[in-house]
Amino acid sequence: MMKKVPIRNLTFSRLQNYLEQKEQKPFRFRQLCNWLYKKYCVDFEEMTTISKKFRSELAEDFLPLSIFVEKRLQEEGAEKYLFRTLDGHSFESVVIYDQQRTTLCISSQIGCPLKCAFCRTGEVPFQRNLTQAEILEQYVLIHRQLLPERQITNLVFMCMGEPLLNYKNLVRALKIMLAEEGFCISGRRITVSTVGIVPALRKLGEEQLGIQPAISLNAPFNSLRSKLMPVNEKYPLHQVIRAARQFPLAPRRRLTFEYVLLGGTNDSLAHADKLVKLVKPTRAKVNLIPLNDYPGCPFTPPSPEAVEEFEKYLRDHHVSTFVRKSKGQGVYAACGQLTARYLEKK
Ligand code: SAH
Repeated sequence: MMKKVPIRNLTFSRLQNYLEQKEQKPFRFRQLCNWLYKKYCVDFEEMTTISKKFRSELAEDFLPLSIFVEKRLQEEGAEKYLFRTLDGHSFESVVIYDQQRTTLCISSQIGCPLKCAFCRTGEVPFQRNLTQAEILEQYVLIHRQLLPERQITNLVFMCMGEPLLNYKNLVRALKIMLAEEGFCISGRRITVSTVGIVPALRKLGEEQLGIQPAISLNAPFNSLRSKLMPVNEKYPLHQVIRAARQFPLAPRRRLTFEYVLLGGTNDSLAHADKLVKLVKPTRAKVNLIPLNDYPGCPFTPPSPEAVEEFEKYLRDHHVSTFVRKSKGQGVYAACGQLTARYLEKK
């Protein structure tokens, strides 16, 4: 017997081929996509417009889900979900909301091989890439919990992992997220955050998907960036910025650079000045993220004065700058923090 595949692992063309083999009428494709991607179905029996006979055939051939909610932590303005995969790994997603927006922060890998010095995901041993289905199901399962009170408005790949190291599954999942028969999310509302894996960033640009990239700079000097992010040895600052600048953006959109502020490490005005020089030639905005501290973290958060001065320096030099408010401290909302704590206790 063939091993059952999670149904959301199929590309649209493979799903269409399957339906043709099963001699289903052409409308079946839209109908099935509607259950999978608009009604967030997690059981073939929920698909009431599909005949009982075909529902049981689907259940024989496919799995409706391949991840399960293991834990849900809630606090004011943020929620964290810990998921478990079929092969027994844990990973997480975070939802952050205010009046206007509900942002889902999803994972692309279990653990991360890049080991940035300030990031807790680096402490979680890297296991593997998430599959297309595991990426899509984070959105499905969380949307099921949030609806009807809340609708996810923005999607960011900023949780565990480096999305561009999981290129194939990332792009396949993005295509379904964007498609009319899929989640039908505007590319303007999807951000892929990356350290800047240069060849993959170029390739992603060539796909012309209309999504937004965010580039994690975190330091304006190569020597410091290499210490904080060992991947900088392979893809140094100037290469990353050049590739980012060539990324096709939606009209009137700016490129986003992220900069984690670490107290006494990269938060001086000399760092701010060099950062201005690096990003100024680009129509860009800078998101400053004060370090989200965790037990055993080798860095300290910046002082509120340092954050304010750094922000002011960038703004005074006409770089649009935002300080990302730290939400979800209680649910350990910085990358990998819940999983790391969870693994500690096991
Ligand atoms: N690998 C991708 C996406 C995951 S990290 C990337 O690096 O962009 C998403 C963002 O969170 C990155 O900008 C990263 O620098 C930042 N980040 C990681 N650990 C953090 C921490 N402890 N506090 C604040 N921001 C952190």
